[in-house]
Amino acid sequence: MEISRYKLKPEFADFIETNKTSGIFESGLPDTIVVHYTAGGSASSAINSFRDPDVKASVHVVVDFDGTLTQMIPFNKTAWHAGKSAWLDRTSLNKYSIGIEIVNAGKLEESGNSWHSWFGKTYPAEEVVQAAHRNESAPSSWHRYTEEQITAVFDLCKALIKKHEIRYILGHEEISPGRKIDPGPAFPLDKLRDNLLYNDRMNEEDPGDEDVVKGVVNASSLNIRSGPGANHKTIANPLSRNTEVVILDERNGWYQVESKVNGWVSKKFIKSTWQG
Ligand SMILES: [Zn+2]
Repeated sequence: MEISRYKLKPEFADFIETNKTSGIFESGLPDTIVVHYTAGGSASSAINSFRDPDVKASVHVVVDFDGTLTQMIPFNKTAWHAGKSAWLDRTSLNKYSIGIEIVNAGKLEESGNSWHSWFGKTYPAEEVVQAAHRNESAPSSWHRYTEEQITAVFDLCKALIKKHEIRYILGHEEISPGRKIDPGPAFPLDKLRDNLLYNDRMNEEDPGDEDVVKGVVNASSLNIRSGPGANHKTIANPLSRNTEVVILDERNGWYQVESKVNGWVSKKFIKSTWQG
């Protein structure tokens, strides 16, 4: 899949424009992808509502059941998909992120041997996944995503990562917890970001899990930043001494590390240790 001039090339996607945007992203952005489901029955109903001037919502790309993509806003302009949202020190994620809406009915209600969506459509057992949502403790029923949709989202994210400095792939449920539950546990969100964002080094060296490079913080308090240098913004509370981190990358005397968050720290304050 390929992007040219902020649009998926026509052989990979239709383009049906909506004018619901707040304009061009600020420089260095977007750096985030937010994954959603439509909670609807078809791509056309989603596309129509994203074009409807009375609906205060829009998105960059809609993914149909068969994996067909429809782009609605070029990737250099914001869309209105995240609403009230927060991640790390950020709020209102629309100004940081590209939105992907996957056509999917969402959470389903069981009735006898079938399941139905909030809009009344019935689904057989093979279209239903039983799983616990990351924000809930008990399992519930969810509309299964098609293989074609999952492949299309993976390919789309790969294409976006080639063109933009994507640092986060998030679910709406993670940036608006309590208010939103999409894309839900039927979508392999952790696998998507693990494969596409955190796996470069592993792909090159193919180490087992036990060969992950770890380190510990060797300072009383260590700032963790959005990029490799003291000029980059801090993205979370400083890491305290002896916090264990996984070292993902190295640049100009800085390590990209992962602990609770993923960010950059000055290398000289990390004592590296080989595990296993
Ligand atoms: Zn959503």
